[in-house]
Amino acid sequence: MNVPIRATPIRASPIRATIVGSLPKPGWLAEPGILQAAWKVPPADLAEAWADATRLCVASQVAAGLDVVTDGEQRRRHYVWGFLDGIAGVDTETLALKPTRGQRFRKETPVARLIGEPEWRGPVLVEPLLAVRALTDRPVKVTLPGPMTLVDSLLDEVGRGSVADLAMIFADLLNCEAKALAAAGAAVVQFDEPCFNIHLDAARDWGIVALQRASAGAGTTTGVHICYGYGGQEVTDWKAANRDWSHYEHSLALVAGTDIDQVSIETAAAGVDIGVLELLRGKDVLLGVVDVGTERVETANEVADRLRRGLDHVAPERLSACTDCGLVLRSRAAAVGKMRALVEGAALVNRELAF
Ligand code: ZN
Repeated sequence: MNVPIRATPIRASPIRATIVGSLPKPGWLAEPGILQAAWKVPPADLAEAWADATRLCVASQVAAGLDVVTDGEQRRRHYVWGFLDGIAGVDTETLALKPTRGQRFRKETPVARLIGEPEWRGPVLVEPLLAVRALTDRPVKVTLPGPMTLVDSLLDEVGRGSVADLAMIFADLLNCEAKALAAAGAAVVQFDEPCFNIHLDAARDWGIVALQRASAGAGTTTGVHICYGYGGQEVTDWKAANRDWSHYEHSLALVAGTDIDQVSIETAAAGVDIGVLELLRGKDVLLGVVDVGTERVETANEVADRLRRGLDHVAPERLSACTDCGLVLRSRAAAVGKMRALVEGAALVNRELAF
């Protein structure tokens, strides 16, 4: 029997706290600290293990006091594969190497392969959504890969068309999934599009159209997450050496012209000029105020300082304290600490705002 995890009522506060999506998995489920880690549990026991891991990570979010929770992507070996696992014509088991993300972080990455006609044969992520909804009455966000990032993470072995054509095909499949998630009670459906900060011209030429197609008429709050990548070593090395942080001037300007409701961006670990938030007037902003590339836990005051800077450009009722990206690579202790810092930092600023 599922006993809902209940905590204090959802705060009626302007600045809310949430995370981008993923959380670390328990060490008994998958090797911590690496992406695409294999399952440690035999296939026959996986469903039960996923349910247990989801229960733990929902409990940790509720205990920390997050206003909007996720399933922590506990059932996904990779954030793109969580959706692709359920799509006919795609092989997420026998992977291929492909240059991805414009080779910004590495030469090649293991990716799923397109081996037939891609087809949506029914909801892929509704079951994990319902599992979370049985555990808490907090609003639940579900993350999907954005179509542009999805096709960047897929090797087309059947020659289905140009990469733009393929993105439109997957946008339609993602749209089916988004509508199913909305019907099943998802408070937010978020599309993860880190490629919008890499392939700037392609994002303008067709990526933004594909994103709109994926989110159109979803029937719930829609969001997009655009970042500079997870907190792995190769990504943190790139960030340390990078001097050009102008990508958001292009990507956020594109999103501003859509009817996407929420935009999640990275500012803690990147040298982004926060003035770029001016482009997002009228949107809800999930401000990345917690660095996912370090085990060091931010203090509530650090989070509050970053939120105050955000308030120069975003109305409090449109602002959420958020992580820069997923926390999948961090230790569970650091993830819990960072979630608490988000909540406590938001509470500090809310008190100043007299809420
Ligand atoms: Zn990210």
